[in-house]
Amino acid sequence: MAKKKVNKINIVFPILGILLIVIAGILQYQIKNSGKKILNSGWITNKTKEIKTPEVPIITEVPTKTPSPTVKATPKPATVESMNKEYGPCAKVNVLMYHHIQDENIAKEKGQTSLTVTPEFFKKHLEYLRDNGYSVITMAELKNFFSGGIVLPKKSVMITVDDGYKDNYEVMYPILKEFGFKATVFVATGLLNNPEYMSWGDLNQMKDLVYFGNHTWSHHSSAGTKEKQTEEITLADKQLSEHGLNDDKIFAYPYGGSSKIAKEVLTNNSYQIAFTTVHGNILCRGKSLELPRIRVGNSSLRSYGL
Ligand SMILES: [Zn+2]
Repeated sequence: MAKKKVNKINIVFPILGILLIVIAGILQYQIKNSGKKILNSGWITNKTKEIKTPEVPIITEVPTKTPSPTVKATPKPATVESMNKEYGPCAKVNVLMYHHIQDENIAKEKGQTSLTVTPEFFKKHLEYLRDNGYSVITMAELKNFFSGGIVLPKKSVMITVDDGYKDNYEVMYPILKEFGFKATVFVATGLLNNPEYMSWGDLNQMKDLVYFGNHTWSHHSSAGTKEKQTEEITLADKQLSEHGLNDDKIFAYPYGGSSKIAKEVLTNNSYQIAFTTVHGNILCRGKSLELPRIRVGNSSLRSYGL
């Protein structure tokens, strides 16, 4: 009996020992794994890792919980007919916008390539207008259309040039003369007579083909106090009038954007026409202080939809 008991103990204890080791091993493994899971889940990342600024995610899909959009259909491009109902009368007029007309080398040297059209391209543009039956109209004709409904030619175009740079007189004007086309130059009157800009004398000599418009006194943006806007607009208005160059009373917003205050000041000073740099070619009386234009560069006018 005693022998048998000893034998049993001899067998049971090692088995129990092995079982305990196996169980301990399994438990250890599970604890380790659950620890990793906690780390990976980010619960304690703030405590264990450095806090970094999160990268902005690139969201390529529309989140499913986004409320239904208020715009019901894809908007169609505005037409003269659709605009007429709301802001009419409207007319399709491509108002081309230029700044510098100068050689590419000079533009590169001065860092003005984005605002430059070369004399070669400017000439090409005017040739295109001449050869494709376009009528280059004046501000007076546009005003008559808005006020009296006097019909404009079907393929109407205007040439506008912003800022009043010296090359407008030296390079652009002789080309204009060659074609006999009329243009409007919007000048920041306070900048005239500076080396890069035209002089009042230059403006005077261009009067046969070029009309002038208000581009504020110091090329000031339309974002500012009413006092500042009034000062900028009325000073330029006064200077243009003093030089006999303000018959049209037209305005172009420096840097392109209109503002509620600027429109108010313009209205108070009898301006009915103001141009933005917003792209478009439908001009409406109801939006005559926010008229669109087409900014052109060194490409064919056909590439701008003409
Ligand atoms: Zn400007």
